[in-house]
Amino acid sequence: MLGMMMDQPLLISSLIEHAARFHGDTEIVSRETDRSLFRYTYADASARAKRIAKALQRLGTAPGDRVGTLAWNSHRHFELYYGISGTGRVLHTINPRLFPDQLRYIINHAADQILFIEPSFVGLVEKLVPDLPTVRHYVIMAPKALMPATSLPNALCYEDLIEAETPELEWPRFDEQSASSLCYTSGTTGNPKGALYSHRSTVLHAFGSCAADMLGVGAADCVLPVVPMFHVNAWGIPYSCPLAGAKLVLPGQHLDGESLCTLFDQEGVTFSLGVPTIWLGALKYADETGKGFSSIKRVIIGGSAAPPSMIEAFDKKHGVRAVHAWGMTEMSPLGTAACLKARHAAASPEAITRVLCSQGRPSFLVDLKITDEAGERLPHDGVAVGNLYVRGPWVVRGYYNDPDASAEAFDAEGWFKTGDVCSIDPDGYVRITDRSKDVIKSGGEWISSIDLENAAVGHPDVAEAAVIGLAHPRWDERPLLIIVPKEGRTIDKPAIMSFLADKVAKWWLPDDIAVVEQLPHTATGKLLKTKLRQDFADYKLPTA
Ligand code: AMP
Repeated sequence: MLGMMMDQPLLISSLIEHAARFHGDTEIVSRETDRSLFRYTYADASARAKRIAKALQRLGTAPGDRVGTLAWNSHRHFELYYGISGTGRVLHTINPRLFPDQLRYIINHAADQILFIEPSFVGLVEKLVPDLPTVRHYVIMAPKALMPATSLPNALCYEDLIEAETPELEWPRFDEQSASSLCYTSGTTGNPKGALYSHRSTVLHAFGSCAADMLGVGAADCVLPVVPMFHVNAWGIPYSCPLAGAKLVLPGQHLDGESLCTLFDQEGVTFSLGVPTIWLGALKYADETGKGFSSIKRVIIGGSAAPPSMIEAFDKKHGVRAVHAWGMTEMSPLGTAACLKARHAAASPEAITRVLCSQGRPSFLVDLKITDEAGERLPHDGVAVGNLYVRGPWVVRGYYNDPDASAEAFDAEGWFKTGDVCSIDPDGYVRITDRSKDVIKSGGEWISSIDLENAAVGHPDVAEAAVIGLAHPRWDERPLLIIVPKEGRTIDKPAIMSFLADKVAKWWLPDDIAVVEQLPHTATGKLLKTKLRQDFADYKLPTA
């Protein structure tokens, strides 16, 4: 027997419709390249999204066509999130930090028909044009007066497109399983792979993310996503904020500590999201000036492991609850977040710190399992460490047009292989110890490079740390700790070793420490360990 409830598809357009209707005067603030602030409301954004949707029709695109964006977190980018997907076209957000070869590959692989480009990325795209046969139009996201001189063929002006249309449009109704947006991973080996989200997965993810123990976004919040809209949809914030009716502050391209902290204070930001390196900059500025966290209550740290020293600094120095979260491009991206349970009220401070420093518990609708190398399930006892698999309605079931990559990514039961290695405790708290490719195998046991890195960055002289395994005649592999010192500090190796001695098991202590000026990162800001392993391939450990 079927239930007798309305059959209403979950469509992305319903999010902006809801915001325009019930939070119509709630503000969206966007910082422009010249640092001035542009301000309007959800009602205004909704009307402009409809105009751009009509412009896309006029430019000859059809539902299902891919439309690319190269843009910061800005109000025009926000409009495109709805203007493109709302009528069934597919928003392809492009990470401008990818190498030119990768950009060529993904724009061609996606077969983008139109590219929307912010002025700061025009030079980048001009160099690619001869190799982009599918792109029919280039639209520069600027008003007429700020259109840059460009060699892009027949470059169109975004504000001209808006001007030429009226906002009368009924968003169409279609299958909720239709593709809505496309984001490529920035894999360290091989070609980037496309995660093709659907309307249904995106709306469910937005719902899930607003839960109190995930992002917990509400209408009283003022949210500033530092995480870019060009990578995994800024962790879904452009969808969850309209759903919740929260004020949205889009920081544009200035993401240094001072620029962010000034905007936090000026706009009364209550909640923000970023990767650890972003928070390093903001914390440094706030420590030096006492400014930046006057209104912030919570921040989310994710994308890479948050060092415990960072979570503690937020809490102790600034009274900000730092929520550690984990996810992936292939998971839209939210998987877990580290919020307490009721019984932690009676827990010791050490036990609470341990919970808050974990990657957290899974969201409703995200299922997790860990397995050994033979694929056998391991217990969720907080001790067993294994390969992490996930499934759920906002997890990919394959990669876009990539049968080879798709075939490798799932186990026989259809679970997605994350490539992360972790333990899961009986309460569901996940502790990621490594990427499986980065695990250090010493004497048949695993050493967690993430735990060692986290311990090292707790030292006052250390700005950033990476640990890689180097070949060892007796133990197979042994850890090398590579450190970037803080400005003006020198690294005293024995002092670092004794600092680590009571933080990790004795046999985990690195066999040596190397000091470098900077570490290599991927286009999404993660440590590029493949490059480090190449750079240190000939390094001789003193113990070898
Ligand atoms: P991406 O697809 O670029 O979002 O990267 C996803 C990967 O980032 C995950 O598979 C993890 O390896 C890593 N990652 C994300 N969040 C965390 C976290 N909180 N702690 C450790 N690693 C993380």
